[in-house]
Amino acid sequence: ETTINQIAAGEVVERPASVVKELVENALDAGATRVEIATAGGGLGLVRVSDNGGGIPPTELPLAVSRHCTSKIETSASLDDIRTLGFRGEALPSIGAVARLSLRSRQPGAAEGAEILVEGGAVSGVMPAPANPGTVVEVRDLFFATPARLKFAKGERAESSAITDAVRRIAVAFPQVRFTLSGTDRQTLDFLPQAADENGQLARVAQALGAEFKENAVPLDAVREGVRLSGHVSIPSFNRANALQQYFFVNGRPVRDRQLASALRAAYADLLPRDRHPLAALFVSIDGRDVDVNVHPAKADVRFRDPGLVRGLLIGGVREALAQAGI
Ligand code: ADP
Ligand code: MG
Repeated sequence: ETTINQIAAGEVVERPASVVKELVENALDAGATRVEIATAGGGLGLVRVSDNGGGIPPTELPLAVSRHCTSKIETSASLDDIRTLGFRGEALPSIGAVARLSLRSRQPGAAEGAEILVEGGAVSGVMPAPANPGTVVEVRDLFFATPARLKFAKGERAESSAITDAVRRIAVAFPQVRFTLSGTDRQTLDFLPQAADENGQLARVAQALGAEFKENAVPLDAVREGVRLSGHVSIPSFNRANALQQYFFVNGRPVRDRQLASALRAAYADLLPRDRHPLAALFVSIDGRDVDVNVHPAKADVRFRDPGLVRGLLIGGVREALAQAGI
């Protein structure tokens, strides 16, 4: 079981930023409106994610850290229409297999909290523990149990910036949630909650991509055959030397997708030199049956049933938005 989990961990937990992503997604799935992330040593020493979500009852703590135990799929039919970010029940057992994990939780209204520990795959009993309402997940000494994987870690700075990037991306999809991120000696992000409307959305994007984005962005909202594309892209004169500030979301889930990135490049093909890249925060809403998010455990890739439709929508939507802005 530990070996299986360590192998699964190779898929789910590539680096500290993937731990942060999984834990933050769990907090959001639990309905948190406040997510605090603390790290040390680029996340290899410590990742701690605290939330004010619904919590886990003490009797369910052992299930939360067991393989393929997810509280999120009620029936197999719901696989087609996944609303939560997690659904595989792999993250916590995978993390517990390669690190020292503690899961401490208290449901709002419960008199007491409880805690469970997993170290290199060995699961403790459930212990009563003082806790605020919500959940605190602490991951220490990532990859201590798999020294070969530890060697793949980049330097502390590179891992820290991957963590910051992961938090920015998720935060853009959840403007109403407050996110804080702090490193060993300082707070690096504090995204105050925004309104649940278009202004709030843009305000959160500006928190993530920088305040200047707001003055240099055009809104877009296009629909084709029931697929909707919304969000903001930068005017061509506001661009970057890399594509790191292009955020794509499919049904509220942050994704990295070559096809979407390539469609965006195509939309700017005659507006920007090849070595300059627009900024973007683009949201695709599509019927769950027309997209597969099940491609990779890390769930960053998507497969559209009709890739040409999405590509055409993106290129057309962006061009039209820029044209509307007189470009
Ligand atoms: P998944 O998210 O795919 O269900 P995970 O391994 O990430 O699998 O989490 C296992 C289970 O633990 C979740 O289904 C959920 O019931 C519980 N859980 C994990 N983190 C939290 C949290 N922050 N708040 C409430 N429940 C949580
Ligand atoms: Mg999860």
